[in-house]
This record gives sequence, C-alpha cells and structure tokens, in this order.
Amino acid sequence: MSLTYDDGLDSHLDLAIPALESRGLRGTFYLTLENVRERVAEWQRAAARGHELANHTVTHPCDIDGNDWRSYARSQIDPMNRAIDIWEGISASHDFAYPCDVTDLGPGSANRQLRRFEAVLRSQHIVSARTSEGPPNPPEWVKRYPFRLQALAAGFDAATLQQLTSYIDRARASNRWAILVFHDIVPAHPAVDELLASVHDGVLDAIVAMKIRCCPVGEVMKDFGS
Ligand SMILES: [Zn+2]
Repeated sequence: MSLTYDDGLDSHLDLAIPALESRGLRGTFYLTLENVRERVAEWQRAAARGHELANHTVTHPCDIDGNDWRSYARSQIDPMNRAIDIWEGISASHDFAYPCDVTDLGPGSANRQLRRFEAVLRSQHIVSARTSEGPPNPPEWVKRYPFRLQALAAGFDAATLQQLTSYIDRARASNRWAILVFHDIVPAHPAVDELLASVHDGVLDAIVAMKIRCCPVGEVMKDFGS
C-alpha cells in the first residue's frame, strides 16, 4: 500500500513526516511548487530520508478544459519536474496526481481529454498518475491504466479510522494496491478536506500492526516495470 499527501502543505512537514518516520514508514508527497517555495530545504531533506517527491503542478489549476496542452506541459508540469530533479539530486521518472481530480485537458470528449492528458504526462517522463477516488487497484488495472490509479481521499470520503482501515483490509484480502490520499492534517476540529492528526496516527499504527508492505508510489511502479 502507499500513503500519499497532496499539495505540499506545512502540516506534512510538521506532523505527517515525523509521524511516518517514528514508525519507519515513507510517503509520497505530491507537491505544488507555489506551496513549497518557503521550505524547500526541508522538502529536500525529506527526500534524502527516502520520501518520494512527486508532481502536483506549479499552481494547482482546477479549470483546464480551455487550456492549450503545450502551454500546460510547459508551465505546469515541466517546472515542477525540474525542481524535484534538483531537490532529489537525480533526474528520474516522476509520478503525478491530478489537481482537483480533473482530467479534462483541452477540448473534446471526456475520453479524448483524458487520452490527451496521458500523452502529455508521458511526454514529461511521468510514469503514473493518481486520481482521488475508486477502489484499491488490482495488478491488472495498474498495468493497463497507470495514469488512472485509484485512491481513497481521507477526510473527504473517509474521516474515521474504521473507514480508512477497512479500505486497507479490503485491499489486503484481495491482493490489491491501496493508496490513501491525505490533505491537511490538523490537531483538532477538522474541516471536510482535513484529517485529525490522531486519526492519521491511528492509520499508521494499523499499517505497522498489519505488517503490510507500505512504500512510495514510485517504488510500486518500479515493480510494475516503470
Ligand atoms: Zn491537490
């Protein structure tokens, strides 16, 4: 399974990463360049300790159906990839998460837009793209649709420890890849897109107790030959 964190938020550095590391776990952090500029050195150190830095665009645009795909690639994807390459000290393949879960890049039908988006991502050395909904991923699904990785969004679609661990349990029982998505992690009074730190801690404890393999998205994709 994989633990993923979107948008490059301060609570990921301040709460999530310490919680992961105290349990020997590593996460995938889909960074939005404009959110992480002030704490670049800390993100760089997190990468050096084994966390994955991944691409979530430069400004997190949610309204892209009128966009020209070339300028989207040039302005939103390429600069984030380059920044990650510099911070990680290597030039490698990248993983991506769709901002706002939208895949309707440019004109045309939904299918055409998604295929266009995939072609743009492939042209930018991206090997997988994660959505924010759907059941755990069967191996055949990952091989066939690496640009449609399914995931459960904590807070939005599962706010309790029981809901989150039952998704992981379901994946384990059926030999599927569970991916959890976290946004802001807060000590108290979570909004709909936030998750209580105590629930986040509980999920990590459950993963350790279940003794299931938990690693960054990029490592799982390598197992699939990407
Ligand atoms: Zn996002």
